[in-house]
Amino acid sequence: MHNIKCVGLLTSGGDAPAMNAAIRAVTRTAIYNGMEVKGIMRGYKGLISGEIVPFRTQNVSNIIQQGGTILKTARSSEFETVEGRKIAYDNMQKEGIDALVVIGGDGSLTGARVFAAEYDIPIVGLPGTIDNDLFGTDTTIGYDTALNTIMQAVDKIRDTASSHERLFFIEVMGRNAGFLALNGAIATGCEAAIIPEIATEVDQLAELIQNGFRKSKNSSIVLVAESEITGGALGLADRVKKEYPEYDVRVTILGHIQRGGSPTASDRILASRMGEAAINALLEGQRNVMIGIDDEELVYVPFSKAIRKDKPINRDLLNTVKILSI
Ligand code: ATP
Repeated sequence: MHNIKCVGLLTSGGDAPAMNAAIRAVTRTAIYNGMEVKGIMRGYKGLISGEIVPFRTQNVSNIIQQGGTILKTARSSEFETVEGRKIAYDNMQKEGIDALVVIGGDGSLTGARVFAAEYDIPIVGLPGTIDNDLFGTDTTIGYDTALNTIMQAVDKIRDTASSHERLFFIEVMGRNAGFLALNGAIATGCEAAIIPEIATEVDQLAELIQNGFRKSKNSSIVLVAESEITGGALGLADRVKKEYPEYDVRVTILGHIQRGGSPTASDRILASRMGEAAINALLEGQRNVMIGIDDEELVYVPFSKAIRKDKPINRDLLNTVKILSI
């Protein structure tokens, strides 16, 4: 038996497309089940400063198609302190919030885990990040939209790359995870993907590109995940230029364009299903779990597993990129 009367809802960390669709689904499912909903503005920061507003069904009208998050998002170093979390808890008590739904990436879910360990609060997380780097879920909210944004941008760059017969290094997001770079490379027919999970030697890369140019190709595109390990697109381009000055090398950093835009159908459906599942999880007495999707089935993943840093990437896909770009 649940005794949750009021659910607090927040988005935290980096924003991702379809966070709004998730906010809508959580709000409406909670209200449908007779619960009150309070929107917490600016993530944990707003929980500490008390920026909390009652949410009705109309608050989430007309947002399913909008990028960004109507709850805004922020990072809060204060929430990383015991004192900060005490203020957050006191604010929850004051507002009568007896459960939390947190939408965010691994940092946000780490925060949720720490908070739940200190105070007796049921918390359910939704994986909201374009990086797709949360363990226990096939995909995260926002990933598909970001991938499609990358695809459209790279398609455009390919036009100019081939007109000028250039070699492009295009940097995509994914600090510690190569999902966007790898699947982006497959979707756009790139010559290579450079990802933090697997070391790449400049020699190997140059050979691959050289082979391509020697055959019929007059342009090449390499997708690079932003990361200290890969050195990013600028770092890699510099190294290749030094060794192979004959190439006409250009760099494009896609940047924050990847975070925005109207979510794809796939992301809207995922966020809607996961948002509904978050409330169902609370009704079932679940706590400290992230909603995941595993082979089309919704699953509950304990926070401790979800935030493991090593979500495996399918290394065979690197070979796919290589074979398909001969
Ligand atoms: P993205 O992966 O898209 O950047 P994220 O959720 O990982 O999103 P972070 O900036 O890592 O984003 O974390 C968001 C917030 O979560 C932090 O600003 C902080 O308030 C909270 N948080 C992160 N780690 C902890 C922790 N160890 N203890 C308490 N709170 C934390």
